Amino acid sequence: MTLDLEQAAAERGIKYFLISYTDLFGTQRAKLVPAAAIRGMARDGAGFAGFATWLDMSPADPDLFAVPDPDGLIALPWKPEVGWLPADLRMAGEPVAQAPRTLLKRLVAEAARDGLSLKTGVECEFFLIAPDGSGPADAADRQVKPCYDQSALMRRYDVITEICDAMLALGWGPYQNDHEDANGQFEMNWDYADALVTADRHAFFKYMTRSIAEKHGLRATFMPKPFPDLTGSGCHAHVSLWRDGRNLFADPADPLGLSQAGYHVIGGIMQAADAMAAITNPTVNSYKRLNAPRTASGATWAPNTVTYTGNNRTHMIRIPDGGRFELRLADGAVNPYLLQAVILAAGLDGLRHGRDPGPRLDLNMYTHGHTVEGVKRLPLNLLDALRALEASPVLNEALGAFVPSYLKLKTEEWNAYAAHLTQWERDTTLDC
Ligand code: GLU
Ligand code: MG
Ligand code: MG
Repeated sequence: MTLDLEQAAAERGIKYFLISYTDLFGTQRAKLVPAAAIRGMARDGAGFAGFATWLDMSPADPDLFAVPDPDGLIALPWKPEVGWLPADLRMAGEPVAQAPRTLLKRLVAEAARDGLSLKTGVECEFFLIAPDGSGPADAADRQVKPCYDQSALMRRYDVITEICDAMLALGWGPYQNDHEDANGQFEMNWDYADALVTADRHAFFKYMTRSIAEKHGLRATFMPKPFPDLTGSGCHAHVSLWRDGRNLFADPADPLGLSQAGYHVIGGIMQAADAMAAITNPTVNSYKRLNAPRTASGATWAPNTVTYTGNNRTHMIRIPDGGRFELRLADGAVNPYLLQAVILAAGLDGLRHGRDPGPRLDLNMYTHGHTVEGVKRLPLNLLDALRALEASPVLNEALGAFVPSYLKLKTEEWNAYAAHLTQWERDTTLDC
């Protein structure tokens, strides 16, 4: 039974609700609604001007309504009198087809009609930086190989544990936190769950991490490659597909413990990877993570080829143990809902068509990638990825009206970038 929000407010001391939706670029937009007004808002939705956000709408369009999903209610751990509610978008009485959460729900429902459910865990990497964005906030965090640095991790104990305590109280099953491979970079892990639940938690995690960091006088950034010489921030997804409570990816007879269904899903993702990148790596900056030269620590840990392997972190897909695989493609800028949507779309295409991922490559792709003939590289920039998305029959069919809207907005972004004159080109070209 769906939660009665008025009653929940009375029982849990919620004074205000944040009715929140995520636009195409991943920004969360909200209205702050007093509990006394929640009944009507829960029924009709909160009104927004769609054109004012990244949704590909016109200023002449009628009001957009964000209808909250009561099952996604989270009382803000750092301000429990406010209840966050993820919302679905409607306009003129119809669902907004390009809205990320609406799109994901449609794909989840379609998979459910075939008895399938996607379960994922996401690994959000982020930096804690100075509020002015200039660099990692901890001046003592300077090791060349800072990964798992115990002292640097413990200097951020107050922030990390405030976030982790919140996840514990919310029942997400957090289980580890670490300092990552770049100075100032961290990762916090919680349990995998159904795709929509993970997407809502992922969206909320970003908001919570930013908010709690701010409370501590810091700034959290999920930017894919904020510093040229340091490892970037990925958002790896651990993927499995289930039917009737059974993990279809588990096969103890396979050397890596992955079933044929798992390999077919990998095949689908590999086939669509360059088009998927437009969504999993959605910014100009994303391609500076994927195509980065070696960082000071020795490796970027980000993929640059469309390949898969066993337990080896230099590929786009890693099979660390049985019953799942890790997609290492996405970065911190990925829209949480679109990440799940695109895995479902490409993965189920692979399953339905029995796509063959080819042989796995047990090589260090950073040093030996060039030795394998025919290995596809990931797109070198956002424009190439957008062109691949435009040309992808699989993603166009599965994602429908979302694709032209997304292409339009992202092409505008690319054009704005292309028109920008950088200092680098002035330095290298002024005296040509
Ligand atoms: N930060 C790396 C990336 O950009 C990943 C590091 C890791 O393997 O956790 O994907
Ligand atoms: Mg990591
Ligand atoms: Mg990982």
